[in-house]
Amino acid sequence: MTRLADLVEQLPDGRVLTDPDVAASYSRDQTFLVPGKPLGVVAAETRDDVVTTMRWATEHRVPVVPRGAGTGLAGGATAVDGCVMLSLARMTAVRELSPADEIAVVEPGVITADLDRAAREHGLMYAPDPSSYEISTIGGNLATNAGGLRCVKYGVTRDSTLGLEVVLADGRVLRTGRRTMKGVTGYDLTGLFVGSEGTLGVITSATLRLRRAPAVPPATVAAEFPSLRAAGDAVAAIIASGCQPSLLELMDRNTLKAIDDWKNIGLEPGVQAMLIGQAEGSLPGNAEAMARLCEQNGASFVAVSTSPEETEELIGIRRLAYNAKERLGACLVEDVCVPRSALPDMISAVEAAAVRHDTLICTVAHAGDGNLHPVFVFDRGLPEPPPNVWAAADEVFRAALALGGTLTGEHGVGVLKRRWLDLESGPLVDEVQRGIKQVFDPLGILNPGKAI
Ligand SMILES: Cc1cc2nc3c(=O)[nH]c(=O)nc-3n(C[C@H](O)[C@H](O)[C@H](O)COP(=O)(O)OP(=O)(O)OC[C@H]3O[C@@H](n4cnc5c(N)ncnc54)[C@H](O)[C@@H]3O)c2cc1C
Repeated sequence: MTRLADLVEQLPDGRVLTDPDVAASYSRDQTFLVPGKPLGVVAAETRDDVVTTMRWATEHRVPVVPRGAGTGLAGGATAVDGCVMLSLARMTAVRELSPADEIAVVEPGVITADLDRAAREHGLMYAPDPSSYEISTIGGNLATNAGGLRCVKYGVTRDSTLGLEVVLADGRVLRTGRRTMKGVTGYDLTGLFVGSEGTLGVITSATLRLRRAPAVPPATVAAEFPSLRAAGDAVAAIIASGCQPSLLELMDRNTLKAIDDWKNIGLEPGVQAMLIGQAEGSLPGNAEAMARLCEQNGASFVAVSTSPEETEELIGIRRLAYNAKERLGACLVEDVCVPRSALPDMISAVEAAAVRHDTLICTVAHAGDGNLHPVFVFDRGLPEPPPNVWAAADEVFRAALALGGTLTGEHGVGVLKRRWLDLESGPLVDEVQRGIKQVFDPLGILNPGKAI
């Protein structure tokens, strides 16, 4: 009996998918990376399916790549040769939603926006909202510590995670954390698993914190700028003023142009950047304050609106950004994050890298977090970015680190950022991380070659 036939025998019918075309469709994420060839796919429906798979993988020393929806932008869910792709996408139950405790207990395949919608039926919300929230899973969000538009006020996925159920590499089931708002018993294993990119265990359930949904719609500011740097200066001024935006997003002209070419949003010729800000509930006056700061920093047009329709339209434009850029060519999507006061300098560094290396870079930013996504566009016919694009990316990474920033604010290291890890972490951090990996996955079968 082949190794895989042994697994097929142990799992219920229909869980193991071996058709090569189907397996190939589970083998990659949203990056250009060419995946390895998996043995097959396990489409888990229960925790026990995951336990069985991991016990089998340990016994046969087979690498396992956990996968949510495959919307990742760092190569974290790409197949390695001879692996099993372990899809959690069928585990979609919201097991509990407690308005009294403001928590939800969910399976990993729940789509992020579905949880938010379920919470809103009770006057609550699930705050972390990556732009991909209509297609990404909670498991993937947890494994990458995903951010999003609302994170400037509510924090990233880790800030909404209270406890986890994790199947370890050998099939044992570990429960971490709690369902209380506080707790310091032992080391913070929950925090360790969040952002571990499938390299320490497979998340099969999560206890998540919900928040009260704002009672009144936010006031939204839209501002256009004659230069990207001026928009960055406005962001730094807004943060320093204590305005407390609940959202602060930035798009450069290349991004706006890509959206305009696709959806005709009426982009004016001189506009080099657009800033969208929001202030919620008890702080509506802060929208006016943000508008004033945009004007003081050179905005050519500023408008404040409390209309839910206009707000939705603006946020909708922002959420189109990634897909609009994909229409231009293949994309290397980067994710640097800098201290917020350094945002203007980081913006200048990105612009300089684009010119120096003759590269088309479209930048969007969760600007209120100092988190920029410079997207390097290259010829779709090429198997990977050409040397000038890598050189521009290298320059951007080094600039971010020199400004006190980090290589990745929310997408994770995956495969794509490993070549720069040494610049940020250094040998001692690497040694400690490998020690942690050894504790949880001594055989190195969980998502090998990713993250550390
Ligand atoms: C249009 C678009 C917009 C995006 N916007 C944002 C954004 O605003 N903010 C942001 O943070 N990201 C964003 N992303 C990136 C991506 O959506 C996130 O990284 C998301 O968290 C990935 O979720 P997923 O379910 O697709 O995970 P996958 O891509 O399937 O996997 C991501 C990683 O998680 C691991 N993993 C998945 N499930 C589990 C599990 N149950 N247990 C253990 N490990 C697991 C995988 O092995 C992999 O390492 C965007 C992507 C796209 C395409």
